[in-house]
Amino acid sequence: MKAISLGYHDVVEQLDQSDDSVRRAPAYYALDRKTFQKHLDEIRTRKPIPQVTFIEAKKQWGTQVPVFLTFDDGAECAYTCIAEELEARDWRGHFFVTSSWIGTPGFMDSSQIRELRKRGHIIGSHTHTHPERMSNLTQPQLASEWSVSCNILEQILGERVKTASVADGYYSKKVGQSAAAAGIEVLFNSEPVKSVGEEHGCLILGRYAVKSVTAPKGSGDLATGAILPCFAQLGLWEAKKVAKAIAGKSYLSVRRLLLSARTRG
Ligand SMILES: [Zn+2]
Repeated sequence: MKAISLGYHDVVEQLDQSDDSVRRAPAYYALDRKTFQKHLDEIRTRKPIPQVTFIEAKKQWGTQVPVFLTFDDGAECAYTCIAEELEARDWRGHFFVTSSWIGTPGFMDSSQIRELRKRGHIIGSHTHTHPERMSNLTQPQLASEWSVSCNILEQILGERVKTASVADGYYSKKVGQSAAAAGIEVLFNSEPVKSVGEEHGCLILGRYAVKSVTAPKGSGDLATGAILPCFAQLGLWEAKKVAKAIAGKSYLSVRRLLLSARTRG
């Protein structure tokens, strides 16, 4: 079983409006609206995106490899910009919301989340507190991140939440198993792979990251599963994994330092 998922974050009207002190997500993930339109058009010329959700797509797959567009964090731009660009092309997205950020500056409030769902988009959990290193959490901490977050979203949506994405990309088997135990049926992580795994009945999907330096053509290439760009991401990811394993906690400190230098400089 294979699927191609692209992981986006913020889309702002103009890139210099991306205020990292408010948004929390690193600015190097942000795209401006015009560039985002070009990304979507590149994807559309290469491969139509199914309107259906992953869970629905699974039932009617056959040999087709579906493509999913995902947006992490629950930023307000999901409501003010991204959703309407997807809808203009008759597509729907997967929006993953960090529940403790709901209604805080720069993030969607409950009514915006509810409206996106009514418009046919998928709303999933992106944990409750967006922990920096999920794979280091204890079992009760993981259980709490998923269950608190899903409960809050379920209260808002009036339906069960079945999808989620891992915060900050620190995935482990334990993270997948805790998601399954919380009733999550589809979990997106950040491993740049097409193969779909499974943990205790929960499907585990990788994602190819789209950053501000990714050209629109790059998104199109990734969506078609082109070997070179997909492989390039996998190579970088594996190298990063080694760096994380060697540096441990200091990797996070160095990363934070680099990010703050990049966003403020
Ligand atoms: Zn995130």
